[in-house]
Amino acid sequence: MGKHFDQDKVAAAFSTLDVHDYGDVLQCMRCGLCLSSCPTYRTDGVETQSPRGRVAMIKAVIDGKMKASEEFVEHIYHCLDCRNCQSVCPAGVKAGELALEARYRIEQNRRQPLIKKFLLNYAILDQKRLSRLLFPLKLYEISGLQSLVRKYDILNLFSEDLGFMEALAPKLPSRPLSEQIPEEIPAIGPERGRVGFFLGCAMNLIFAETSRATIENLTLAGYRVIVPKEVQCCGTPNIAEGERKVYREMAENTIRIFADRRVDYVVTDCAACGSELKTYREIFQKIPAFAAKAQEFSSKVRDVSEFLDSVLTPNVRFGPISETVCFHDPCHLRHGQRLIFPQRNLLKRIPQLDYRELPDEGQCCGSAGIYNITHRQRSMKILESKIEAIEKTQAKTVVSSNPGCLMQLNYGSGHWKKGWNVIHISEILNRSLIAGKKLD
Ligand code: SF4
Ligand code: SF4
Repeated sequence: MGKHFDQDKVAAAFSTLDVHDYGDVLQCMRCGLCLSSCPTYRTDGVETQSPRGRVAMIKAVIDGKMKASEEFVEHIYHCLDCRNCQSVCPAGVKAGELALEARYRIEQNRRQPLIKKFLLNYAILDQKRLSRLLFPLKLYEISGLQSLVRKYDILNLFSEDLGFMEALAPKLPSRPLSEQIPEEIPAIGPERGRVGFFLGCAMNLIFAETSRATIENLTLAGYRVIVPKEVQCCGTPNIAEGERKVYREMAENTIRIFADRRVDYVVTDCAACGSELKTYREIFQKIPAFAAKAQEFSSKVRDVSEFLDSVLTPNVRFGPISETVCFHDPCHLRHGQRLIFPQRNLLKRIPQLDYRELPDEGQCCGSAGIYNITHRQRSMKILESKIEAIEKTQAKTVVSSNPGCLMQLNYGSGHWKKGWNVIHISEILNRSLIAGKKLD
């Protein structure tokens, strides 16, 4: 992000916060119930790193009692947008969303770096472009250079940041999933309906095999799956970085694509995408020409666990899996979509699976989009707490359902030499459903 900005212009931009957002600021009664749920307050223990502190600072800038200084901007960017505070606030204050609103006003008033413009205004518009950008990483992997670099820990000799990013890089599929599958995949058995599958960028380009398992699970549940290949990003990175113009164009495009396909539901296996797609109805509610379409679209969106938990009737057989597992709730699932039970219900249906509850009540893992790269040290402290919580469960397999969380937890497992198997819920469900089918 660009460092330099006009403080007065940023402060003036805050004075235009609309009634809804300003109401949120005023509703904070400073009770402090949000403090212990906020990962930055838990790591730093200071008011400026708490939801209550961020709300107070935003109010002070709006009221002209505080300058929109670089320090203020830093505090706003320290928020992970995990929304844990929103789950616990008795007054309904949306501190995480307010931080995003603040970022939008800041970014409108400072020069944007070229790399950011390239990524958010151009690359993200087309998954084929993103795939081409990943090609050097694929070459690095298949040439054997990656094994050499990892064996001798070469990048860490130059920069810990580089070493971290390298260790985070997952194994890439031979091709994106969109190039491996047809647009329509028929149901297995009698057809119950048409499900549109939203190909998230990270799932399509990095976790292709996981999304293949998701689609197979949907067909096993009796649904024809429609996979539009021309979808763009859901817009989460744009919103997180204060960009809204391209975000709205991509959202409109997604809504039109799925309306054309006449699907009954739109399912995603990325918690961040699901949370964003469900928000489109709020984003467009003030734009009459599009409000109804956005409302209809968002009402059809389901996280994959939410969908399968509602359609897999008790007579569907799950095959046994003898493993000890825990589930890490992605923030965008637990706090963004308020989904806690569907994923647990599904895991508990697997015979012989020893499910253990994580004792940290939905704390963030520190991934938060690119937070682990932009705020590496803070992210690592947050991850360390998550690793300690997983350790307490004695689980050998860590299940989750968001690509960023999977990469972060996999990194943590390797870094702290835990040897855990970190997988998406679709993968373990797929193994169980296929085993169950054989038993029928
Ligand atoms: S944000 Fe909510 S929970 Fe936190 S201090 Fe304000 S009213 Fe209390
Ligand atoms: S969204 Fe998360 S990091 Fe941000 S203030 Fe709320 S709890 Fe803290």
